[in-house]
Amino acid sequence: MMISKRTSTEFVEEMLGVDMEKMAHKLVTECKKQWEERKRRHEITSKAKIEKQNNLLRAIPNTWCKLVKSQITPCPKCKKPEIICSSWHMKNIHTVEIKDIHDIWRDICETTKLDQKRITRNEITQVSNIKNT
Ligand SMILES: [Zn+2]
Repeated sequence: MMISKRTSTEFVEEMLGVDMEKMAHKLVTECKKQWEERKRRHEITSKAKIEKQNNLLRAIPNTWCKLVKSQITPCPKCKKPEIICSSWHMKNIHTVEIKDIHDIWRDICETTKLDQKRITRNEITQVSNIKNT
């Protein structure tokens, strides 16, 4: 993922559909279990599969990552590193209306949750038609 480290962990976890702390803890537990098996010269069991939610970023283009990244980058118009190019800043300082990234994310989720295995173009069009009415 081409998202900056400064993006909030909660938002990244939501996008990836994983609890990273829980996943890391489970991986450590599985590795310890395998290590104990190796020490005892037992047959090494394979790691238990880590549960993941559905990937809500499936088929989402890289432009989404650019958009997420823009929320933590300095405003190109103000050219001051402390001023972040958020939708609030763009609206209130430059009078440029940009939809909030969390609102866009909710729209993406509605589309990608339609059918986790296969989303047809018609289903995507139906969702966007409902939103526009
Ligand atoms: Zn600015």
